[in-house]
Amino acid sequence: MTTKRFFTYEEIHRTVAALAREIQASGFDPDVTVAIGTGGFIPARILKTYLKKPILTVGIKLYGDDNVIHGGPSKVQWIDEVERKLKGRRVLLIDEVDDTRTTLAYCLRELLNHEPAEIAVAVLHCKDKPKRDELPGAVKRYWAGQHLQDVWVVYPWDAEDIDAHCAQAEQAGHR
Ligand code: 5GP
Repeated sequence: MTTKRFFTYEEIHRTVAALAREIQASGFDPDVTVAIGTGGFIPARILKTYLKKPILTVGIKLYGDDNVIHGGPSKVQWIDEVERKLKGRRVLLIDEVDDTRTTLAYCLRELLNHEPAEIAVAVLHCKDKPKRDELPGAVKRYWAGQHLQDVWVVYPWDAEDIDAHCAQAEQAGHR
């Protein structure tokens, strides 16, 4: 069975704060961020506290309703007036986890069609494992808040019982 790693909101907030410091120190100043939903929504919102840039959202589905991957990713929702919002702009794409990399690679290829000036990537967590796809060559900046082994990450926003979730995290020494 895959090991589970429970993250608290506090850990995630600290990780995003550290990511924001790295992004700012790099000199990359995005015009806009794009959150991949739904996992990227809360990280993107926390990042906005530091970067103070508007958030656009896209919905990408990889797992079916049965929690199994069937084929490739598909768009559930996309950006309105995408050309006007992305062409010539510096874009920061945000997701919660880079697992097989299929979603990020798909989304980046789609966004690059709209000719942004630059597109960079920030994820909370990158699983260090063989990836099924690669980032397009045009992507020169990639930040991961934390590198993890191939565990199953359990995010607090998926918890029905947040106290039980935090207890699991704390039991493993995380708070
Ligand atoms: P990909 O395999 O394309 O890198 O990841 C696709 C999506 O699967 C992620 O954006 C995320 O929503 C979900 N996912 C992958 N690994 C995990 C994980 O360990 N925990 C959770 N909660 N979602 C995951």
